[in-house]
Amino acid sequence: MSDDTVKFLLPEDRIPRAWYNIMADFPEPMAPVLHPGTGRPIEPDDLAPLFPMACIAQEVSTEREIEIPEPVREIYKQWRPSPLFRARRLERALDTPARIYYKYEGVSPSGSHKPNTAVAQAFYNREEGVKRLTTETGAGQWGSSLAFAGQIFGLEVDVYMVKVSYHQKPYRRALMEACGARCVPSPSTETAAGRAILEADPDSNGALGIAISEAVEMAAQRDDTKYALGSVLNHVMIHQSVIGLEALEQMEMAGDAPDVVIACAGGGSNFAGLVTPFLGRKIKGEMSPRVVAVEPAACPTLTRGRFAYDFGDTAHLTPLVKMHTLGASFMPPGFHAGGLRYHGMGPMVSHMLHLGLIEAVSHHQLGCFEAGVTFARTEGIVPAPESTHAVKEAVDEALRCKAEGTARAILFNLSGHGHFDMQAYTDFFDGKLEDRDYDQAILDRAFDALPRVAAE
Ligand SMILES: *Cc1c(COP(=O)(O)O)cnc(C)c1O
Repeated sequence: MSDDTVKFLLPEDRIPRAWYNIMADFPEPMAPVLHPGTGRPIEPDDLAPLFPMACIAQEVSTEREIEIPEPVREIYKQWRPSPLFRARRLERALDTPARIYYKYEGVSPSGSHKPNTAVAQAFYNREEGVKRLTTETGAGQWGSSLAFAGQIFGLEVDVYMVKVSYHQKPYRRALMEACGARCVPSPSTETAAGRAILEADPDSNGALGIAISEAVEMAAQRDDTKYALGSVLNHVMIHQSVIGLEALEQMEMAGDAPDVVIACAGGGSNFAGLVTPFLGRKIKGEMSPRVVAVEPAACPTLTRGRFAYDFGDTAHLTPLVKMHTLGASFMPPGFHAGGLRYHGMGPMVSHMLHLGLIEAVSHHQLGCFEAGVTFARTEGIVPAPESTHAVKEAVDEALRCKAEGTARAILFNLSGHGHFDMQAYTDFFDGKLEDRDYDQAILDRAFDALPRVAAE
């Protein structure tokens, strides 16, 4: 019997009934979110113009289990539980004694983990009478996920898309429009924040921080409109925990336990989604995997950023959150993993690093694409450019196992497929991609612009 395809599938009724919230188990609580005007901890009402109350409650919840509403579970059934594979052909190609497992989130309608939270957020907004959602998107995965979720629950969706991606990724825009969203290149002239940027730099490529300012400004102006964020915030991380909860059970089906758990981290949501249920077990002393976040060397938030209070956006409209940050004024270059181009890291993930619960590494894009191609040629799935960062670290770990002659179990999250990012692979094959490092001086300049906060 061949063991080429080893797949662990759970039946539909094993979709978790509750999300896991690691805030219940942190040995130290997270730093409070501060009001940008007063410098005091914000109140739930301060966020009410932007988010539905259900999400605001989750943002500060210390409940360990948060019930997944039945209509959300019903939609999850379209692609959940997602499969967990053992990468036997990759293992053989690497000639490693390691056992490599990956959880595959590319089976969702938009091809990534993002619908896990988009569906939940659209549901809560509909329940609270909202008619329209605004959001930003970098690479386009989040915009298409929210467009899909908005259609299901009858909400209009306006997406401010980072201008460089809008032009580089016309298929993503078409996908969002096909799913019913309106897509606007950011910076735009629709908002004061966008107009200010364009005045200073008419050729601005845009950045996630700018697009966030525009989406927030539009949501704050209208009562029937709220804002939805696809990463970074605690409620998003909580929704994504379905990934890890399923993976825990699937690793048990495999009769194995991971020694290393790996995911890429942009704002941190697919990372938190996979790893928090494992960390919860680790905090209780039930297992002891190493947990590794992988980020691009060109946007090294966790590995070279400061753990400090900062704004989430360029125009300084958002509350102040304590996170690993390169400074809200930091402009990442136009590298290909668009979903990892954010100046900050989710506060929950930043807190995990601060507490020593996780480790962080960075990789350059050439090595990541190489690993992505190896994965495509063995496992047959072309990873999203973001996901290649996790693949790269898993491959490196498997090669370390080979060098040491040890057989560790490696679990990583394949957060999405790369079918809408084939231009990135074309550029890689044509030798057009470069690796960039930053001078400490460039980073220091952005750190100098960090807000001074009395609480620190
Ligand atoms: C958006 C995205 C990411 C990065 O976002 P996180 O919140 O860090 O998970 C990673 N992988 C894929 C496929 C994405 O679409």
